[in-house]
Parts: sequence; C-alpha cells; structure tokens
Amino acid sequence: MNKKALEDLNVKGKKVLVRVDFNVPIIDGVITDDNRIVQALPTIKYLIDEEAKVILFSHLGRIKKEEDLAKNSLDVVAKRLEELLGQKVNFVPYTRGIELENAINEMKNSEVVMFQNTRYEDLDGKKESKNDPELGKYWASLGDMFVNDAFGTAHRSHASNVGIASNLESAAGYLMEKELKYIGDTVANPQKPFVAILGGAKVSDKIGVIENLLKKADKILIGGGMAYTFMKALGYNIGTSICEEDKLDLANSILENANGKIVLPVDVVVTKEFKEDAEYRVATYKNLKEDEMGLDIGPKTIKLFKKELKGAKTVVWNGPMGVFEFTNFAKGTEAICEALANMKDARTIIGGGDSAAAAIQMGYREKFTHISTGGGASLEFLEGKELPGVVSLDDALECDCGEDCDHDHDH
Ligand code: AMP
Repeated sequence: MNKKALEDLNVKGKKVLVRVDFNVPIIDGVITDDNRIVQALPTIKYLIDEEAKVILFSHLGRIKKEEDLAKNSLDVVAKRLEELLGQKVNFVPYTRGIELENAINEMKNSEVVMFQNTRYEDLDGKKESKNDPELGKYWASLGDMFVNDAFGTAHRSHASNVGIASNLESAAGYLMEKELKYIGDTVANPQKPFVAILGGAKVSDKIGVIENLLKKADKILIGGGMAYTFMKALGYNIGTSICEEDKLDLANSILENANGKIVLPVDVVVTKEFKEDAEYRVATYKNLKEDEMGLDIGPKTIKLFKKELKGAKTVVWNGPMGVFEFTNFAKGTEAICEALANMKDARTIIGGGDSAAAAIQMGYREKFTHISTGGGASLEFLEGKELPGVVSLDDALECDCGEDCDHDHDH
C-alpha cells in the first residue's frame, strides 16, 4: 500500500490532527501496558520537532452507557504520555465544543493537545463507530491535515479515521507505516522458510488467516484451544477441551488442503477443572480421559515446535499456546515466546493481542523484529484484507526525484 508518508506533509506551523491508538489496558486507574503509547512516540516527536501543532485523539474501551464514561477517560493516558514525552500535554476532556476549539486555536508550534476518548461520541447514536459523516467533517474542521497512526483500529471504518481522512489531506504515521511494512511485506514476500504459529481460543477467529497463510507459509504450527477442533476432526478424543463442533468439517477440509503444512500438538497439559491452581498432568490424545480438558501444549510439542522453527527465516506468531493467564498452563506460551525471542537470523513478528502482551510481560519487547499494536487489525491484515483506515489515506505522490532516488517508495 503506497500511501503518503509524514515527510510528504508540510507540517510547520500547521494544526496536525493525529489519530493514535491509545486503547491501553487500565486496571484501577493504572496503565498496565503502555506499549501502544510508546510505539506512537516517533510520530509525535517528529511533529514536535518539525514545529507542528499536534492534536492527538484516540478511542479507549467501549462506551455504551453513562457509567462507561469516567472509567474510559483518556486523562491517565495523557499523563503517561506527558511523562514519556517530557513535555506538557494539554488534555481537553471533551470531544467537541468551544473549549476544545479554543484550546486548539491558542496552540503554539510544537505544543501538544489531546482530546477526550473519541468513543464518548458513541453514547448518543454511535457517531464515532458508525462513521457519522457530520462528526468526521467536524473533527476535520479542527485541523489543517490528518495523520493516521492508529493501526489497531485501521480495520474499522470510524469517524476518527476514515471520516476525517475523507475531508482532509492525510498521511500514514510512522507506526502505521511500520506495521504495514512488517506485516504486509513479510506476508507478501516472506524470506523462506516461513513458519506461522497460531493459537488462541477459537478456530473460527482465524480461519481466514490459516487459509491465507497456507498459500505463503512452509509450516503452520497450531496450539492453544483451536488445536482441539482439528484433533477432534481427526477422530481423537479431546475430553472436555474447548471445541467448535460446527467447524469440524471445515477443520477437516483445511487439513486436507494443507499438504502436510499444518503441525498439531502431540501432547497436551490436561486438567479436570478450569482454574488457576488446578491439578494437571501431561497427556497424549490417546490417553486423554473423558473428563479432562487440555489447557496447554505439552513438553514433546514444545520440542516439536522448536524443531520446526529451526532455520526459519520468517516467523509470524498470533495467539497463546494455552491458557497462559494461569501459571500452570503458561509454560507452552512462554517456551515458544522464548524460542522466538532467541532466533537471531529470523524476522520475528507477533501479530498483536495476547501473544504481544505475553512477550512484553516476559521482557522480550526488544527481542522481536516487530510486535504489532493491533490485534484485530493484524489478523485482518494477515488474512490479506484491505484495511479501510489505510485505504482512506491519500496515495503517495508520484516520485519525481529521478533514477537515483533512494526514497522508500515504488517508482
Ligand atoms: P484469542 O483471543 O483467540 O487469541 O484467544 C486467547 C485466549 O485463548 C486466551 O485468553 C487463552 O486463555 C485462551 N486459550 C488458549 N488456549 C486455550 C485452551 N486450550 N482452552 C481454553 N482457552 C484457551
């Protein structure tokens, strides 16, 4: 996708509207993972250095009723951003109106304003999430140009991305560019061998990804809850493990068309109860009992998956290998994460969501080529779909710099 980049905008002294994805986890008023804020810093710092007036906005959580408002206020995020930037962030607790307009009109170059959660506009008729044309137009009227750096919402057509982009000159921010480059280019032209690792609860969420990756990857290693639907489709006893009965035929046809590319667990960690400190044992599908459920991949599977990863030049990982929220069932996810973090010659990419959180929690943030900030967006991108938040941005300008151009764009 060849879209206008930050450098293509003439931002000096201009009011630049920047859609960021600051939808971070907050527990009791404390941000538990600030990865999305950290990842947006390069774009924000560039605009500050280039003397733009930087107007930031994001969604946070979902707003369905009055009670959702206070707990989804972006004020804590603005404070964290202020710490990370080392500069004042003027937080305006409104999404429209005279106070917001005044705050923006009084800005000096290199100052930063952040306004309230865009989904506050969902309380009355889902204006943000349904891309209400008037709202997109109004927000666009607050600035001179628009930068979209919110990859995490790029798979949605909302007023704060598509709505604004249809009314203003627009470009992709650095994070958006990075996500498109790492995930898009990697999947389009992977260096081989290319191994994908998929996990998480359900097959149904990842059918499109499996089908698309089967065309490109050499191997797909499947762990997590989704493995059990495949195992049952193959006729194994899976006890009370999570299974999508209505996807058994589909699982069979995926396996039939996979040409041996799909690798399933050979052993699993089973328990009788779904709880943190439940007793557990390692079982194979042959000796798994009717009243047992698999909550993690077993040691032989970890070994097998590591063997399949050996020599890989590209690895994409999405979804935990087990119920990693419970310590007893986190070993598979941790072992795979560690194995990937130590692959020196491979491009390693985590497609957002729980696997990204696990890698960061384990202290491997710097050890991966790229950890995506988008769960749903990266899944849709891995499926090969176009993302409306990206499509709506201005196309890159034709390059006129001649034969010797070394800019990062196509001629
Ligand atoms: P997803 O959002 O589809 O990536 O799924 C992530 C969730 O899958 C996590 O909350 C895990 O606890 C859950 N999960 C992974 N493995 C299993 C399993 N074997 N049984 C039940 N849930 C699982």
